[in-house]
Amino acid sequence: MSWETVIGLEIHAQLSTKSKLFSGGSTKFGAEPNTHVDLIDMGLPGVLPVANKEAFYKAIRFGLATGANINQTSSFDRKNYFYPDLPKGYQITQMTKPIVEKGSIKITVDNSEKIINITRAHLEEDAGKSIHDLFEGETGVDLNRAGTPLLEIVSEPEISNAKEAVAYFKAIRQLVTFLDICDGNMAQGSMRCDVNVSIKKSDDKELGTRAELKNINSFKFIEKAINYEIERQIKVIESGESVVQETRLYDSEKNETRSMRSKEEANDYRYFPCPDLLPVVISNKELQEIKNNLPELPEEKEHRYVKEINLEESEAKIISSSKTMANMFEEASTKTDDAKLVAKWLVGDVSALLNKDNIDIDESNLTSENFGILIERISDSTISGKIAKSVLEEVWKSGSNVDKIIETKGLIQIQDESVLEEIAKKVVESNPSQVTAYKGGKDKLFGFFVGQVMKETQGKANPQTVNDILKNILD
Ligand code: ADP
Ligand code: MG
Repeated sequence: MSWETVIGLEIHAQLSTKSKLFSGGSTKFGAEPNTHVDLIDMGLPGVLPVANKEAFYKAIRFGLATGANINQTSSFDRKNYFYPDLPKGYQITQMTKPIVEKGSIKITVDNSEKIINITRAHLEEDAGKSIHDLFEGETGVDLNRAGTPLLEIVSEPEISNAKEAVAYFKAIRQLVTFLDICDGNMAQGSMRCDVNVSIKKSDDKELGTRAELKNINSFKFIEKAINYEIERQIKVIESGESVVQETRLYDSEKNETRSMRSKEEANDYRYFPCPDLLPVVISNKELQEIKNNLPELPEEKEHRYVKEINLEESEAKIISSSKTMANMFEEASTKTDDAKLVAKWLVGDVSALLNKDNIDIDESNLTSENFGILIERISDSTISGKIAKSVLEEVWKSGSNVDKIIETKGLIQIQDESVLEEIAKKVVESNPSQVTAYKGGKDKLFGFFVGQVMKETQGKANPQTVNDILKNILD
């Protein structure tokens, strides 16, 4: 009998609030160590936390968008453990009454759809960072991140393989960025996940013992770590031993998972209600207001693009798959009368470059503004489509401004008909045998003449004008 894989994800999404979950400290990424830390984040005795309303509103948006129950009364608990980057000695989280429960999200893998249920999504504070590689033989502690609001999104154990796990993570990332509650920046750690993996025989009713792979922050590593872990568990069981419940670390350099701590050494967090914080009550009015102000979600965007802008379904799907691309599409569409042209460039050339580099549009050098300029220059015939392709490639490499590239490389389309006519005449004169063949009925040769003129002008001629001129001369 074959092995079946069972996976559940715990995703931590950093909520994009200005200040922290319980203090006025800034959440800005990348500041000098320990400069965004106030008394509460430092865990000084006697200070009292104050819950950040905005974090609740953002969590509720997530709940509404996943069809979940919103607990209008939710509360905070203390999770006790000792670590140098947790000065209070406990993390404030929501254990017994989370803000969001029982939602779901749709994923698509190889063209088939599946619903993954979300057990809960609760608010909690992030810890600081321990920095092990900066000082020889010492560890530094940076508390800038301490107290940053996280939404921990816990899935049911319903994910069946690495591909589904990646699709699920991508779907959650897409949703939180569209909802504008998290910037989705994986490189900066704004989204990370713990992956729980177990295997069982297909007809086993009970789930197998799971291993938890900690803190993975890239799609590629999620997939690799899971596939490694499945193989490892199969080997363990088939050699007659059993999988131990433990926390494991994924080493991306060696592509393996290693034990960090087993259940025997597992922490007893001694959760109890946080005495410093009253339960948080969300009024009906607040809830209604959040509902009324939910932004347009990917699926709604997709439908609107098809219905109102006449895009192909496949185009609409690709463009609405990321907030950045949808924004690019909508902004560039204001620079032209031809929204389908914008879609064509995004789905065609831009997507091809993304695939080639295997990156996300947020990681590319292309900005919404620069893409808008490119579309404008194509639309107003400053450059030909062919030249636009090479300009895009240049932007891709350097991120330079489109107009600057056009200017410094002298790429402006030749519109002047007399100039083009002269070049066309020269081409015709210097290819007498092709002319004879064309006139004798070899229509296909027309393309050859167009090609020659384009070559002479280094692609800068307006192809339509060249066509017209050549027709005039040859026909
Ligand atoms: P914790 O990791 O905090 O002890 P939970 O019991 O809430 O907590 O489980 C966390 C995650 O592990 C959930 O996403 C759940 O779906 C997943 N999970 C639970 N049991 C299994 C299992 N046997 N195999 C795979 N995933 C599991
Ligand atoms: Mg866990």
